[in-house]
Amino acid sequence: MKTMRQPVDDVLVVGGGPAGLAAALFLARAGLKVAVVDAGGSPLFAVPRVPNYPGRPDAPSGARLLADLARQAEAAGALIVPGYVQDVEDRGGVFVLALEEGGTRHAERLVLATGEDLRLVGILGLERRGTHVETDAGGRTSYPRVYAAGRLRGLVPEHAATSAGDGAWVATNLVSDLRGEPYRDHQEG
Ligand SMILES: Cc1cc2nc3c(=O)[nH]c(=O)nc-3n(C[C@H](O)[C@H](O)[C@H](O)COP(=O)(O)OP(=O)(O)OC[C@H]3O[C@@H](n4cnc5c(N)ncnc54)[C@H](O)[C@@H]3O)c2cc1C
Repeated sequence: MKTMRQPVDDVLVVGGGPAGLAAALFLARAGLKVAVVDAGGSPLFAVPRVPNYPGRPDAPSGARLLADLARQAEAAGALIVPGYVQDVEDRGGVFVLALEEGGTRHAERLVLATGEDLRLVGILGLERRGTHVETDAGGRTSYPRVYAAGRLRGLVPEHAATSAGDGAWVATNLVSDLRGEPYRDHQEG
C-alpha cells in the first residue's frame, strides 16, 4: 500500500501576533518553507489605535496592523493557517503538531510566539523564567531547534513594535544557525 508523506515545513511559527508574523516574514524571505498557525487571540486585535508603531503614522487599529503584517508575510511566501496547536511531539527530528481543529503539521524547527500561552512550553519541557520561556539572547530555547520570540520570552517591553522587532531578530538568528554564518536580509544596490 502506498503511504502518503506529510509535507514538512522548514519552520513552523506558532502564534500570529506581531512577533510570529515578523518572524515568518524574515524566514520566508530567507527562502525557507514557513507556516504560521495562529489562534487569533492577540490582545492587539482589540486595540482601537496603535499610535507607536514605527512606519505607521496612520495609527492603524490593532486588527488592521495584524492584517497588514499577515499580508506582508504571505506575500513573502509564508502560509498562514488559522488554528490552535494543542500538542507537539518530536518524532526523530521532525516536530508533529496537532491542531485542535483537526489535522497535523510537520516541521523541522519551531518558533514559539504564543504570547501569554505556555501550553507548548510545558509540553516540550522548556526551561522557564517565571511566566516566560528561558532563551539565550538570540531566542534559542533549552530544546534544540526550538526558538521563542516576542512576549513569550519576556525580554522586550510589551509593545507591538518591540515584539515584531524581536520576531525579526530571532528569525535572523535561526537563519544564521542554519547557514552557519551571520545572515542579513539586505538588498543589493
Ligand atoms: C489592553 C492592551 C492594550 C495594548 N495596547 C497596545 C498599544 O497601544 N500599542 C502597542 O504597541 N502595544 C499594545 N499592547 C501590547 C501588545 O498587544 C503586545 O505587546 C503584543 O501583542 C505582543 O505580541 P506577541 O506577538 O509577542 O504576542 P501576541 O500578540 O499575544 O500573539 C500571540 C498569538 O499566539 C496565538 N497562540 C497562542 N498559543 C497558540 C497555540 N498553541 N496555537 C496557535 N496559536 C497560539 C494567540 O492566539 C495570539 O494570536 C496592548 C496590550 C493589551 C493587553
